[in-house]
Amino acid sequence: MTERVPGDVRALLEALEGAGFEAHLVGGCVRDLLRGVEPQDWDICTSALPDETEACFPHHRLLETGLRHGTVTVLAGHRPYEITTYRADGPYSDGRRPDRVEFVPDLVQDLARRDFTVNAMALGLDGVLHDPFGGQADLAAGVIRCVGDPDRRFQEDGLRLMRALRFAACLDFAIHPATAAAIRRNLPMLDKVAAERVQAELRKLLMGPRAAETLREFPEVLCRFWPQLEPLVGLEQRNPWHCYGGWEHTLHALAAAPEDLTVRLAVLLHDVGKPPCRTTDEAGIDHFYGHAAVSAQLADQMLRALKFDNRTREEVVTLVARHDAPIAHTPKSIRRWLGRLGEATLLRLLEVKRCDSYGKDIQLVRERLAANEALKAMVREVVAQGQCFSLKDLAVDGRDLLAAGVPAGPAVGKALNSLLGQVVSGELPNEKAALLAALGLPPSPP
Ligand code: ATP
Ligand code: MG
Repeated sequence: MTERVPGDVRALLEALEGAGFEAHLVGGCVRDLLRGVEPQDWDICTSALPDETEACFPHHRLLETGLRHGTVTVLAGHRPYEITTYRADGPYSDGRRPDRVEFVPDLVQDLARRDFTVNAMALGLDGVLHDPFGGQADLAAGVIRCVGDPDRRFQEDGLRLMRALRFAACLDFAIHPATAAAIRRNLPMLDKVAAERVQAELRKLLMGPRAAETLREFPEVLCRFWPQLEPLVGLEQRNPWHCYGGWEHTLHALAAAPEDLTVRLAVLLHDVGKPPCRTTDEAGIDHFYGHAAVSAQLADQMLRALKFDNRTREEVVTLVARHDAPIAHTPKSIRRWLGRLGEATLLRLLEVKRCDSYGKDIQLVRERLAANEALKAMVREVVAQGQCFSLKDLAVDGRDLLAAGVPAGPAVGKALNSLLGQVVSGELPNEKAALLAALGLPPSPP
């Protein structure tokens, strides 16, 4: 297995060993090597103290940002590698970070502080695997299990609740029953975790192949930081269009989503506004009039609470707000939608709509899927043909209008938008002379 360790990494381990210290690959990279997956980053643990580590690399650039926790980052071949002194974590009084870290001479103690058995293995260049907590067996069985007493581990650091779900979703693993029970007992620990750290784990979780199954098993984890979801989880839908309740429908939709975080977030949140919008008619059929707008409002709140970046938040909110808007299959309608959303967001909206059709009546699904494919094809056609759908495509711009005698000021923008509307609707051709003529202006000299 060590033959798959890149030369740069091997050289770092050799430098530490050459100076008389122990050095091992540890954590995610060992897990991924054992799974036969290319590791994303290579972490090293060592018996060397941080200043001893630094002394081993006199010719490398070093970053000392993690020094307080015993981590020296070494740049080799333009890539950063974290080298961390064996440590045991002191008491955790805040549920987030150890009060102090203590350097220890022993690899097993270092492995014992790690979160899950599959992340608590170390590998030396000699090919010896150190696995004191049964990580290999759990890896083979596809199990996420805390190292040590799960209640204690979650009480030390609430982020581990999210990490357990994240690894289950990403590795396609099940969470061990005792670990799962401890997650459910320790939900309040999530309240102490910084929103950005929850967000980072949620992003990874949602991109995992087992995201929907993991959320089906642990909706209460999401509801802890997103209480707005709770009514959806319990929502029944009595109508002929849905064969599932609100949450189950959301999970079916999520399972059908492409590997695109914005789409997955939109799918996750698209119906969160349904519960407050429910009405039941005389026939006992549920309706959810206006739920898209309410969902969009809630989605905005929820993404803000987790401190998502503005761009992601705004696009998700747009997708949620429009998820059930009808899109007609005509070039004119497609040009309008392109003008409103742009190509990338419109294609994402079609994906959200496709996902939304899963978990509904099967005949409806077939129709929706076929219609969706046709719409996508038309979007591509309209874009490929260079048809005009936004101001930048219009055959005249502000300067043309000024040159033709439109007075400077708001009249210019107004005129441009009015022309755009007429071109998009097909009333006017996208040609300069025709557009100026439509404004009652003579064509400007070339
Ligand atoms: P990825 O492939 O996503 O990087 P990883 O396992 O490398 O997965 P990291 O977040 O990079 O995960 O952490 C590196 C290692 O540090 C983990 O494998 C684990 O051993 C340990 N670790 C990280 N965060 C925690 C935590 N909150 N509590 C305990 N151990 C942790
Ligand atoms: Mg890592």
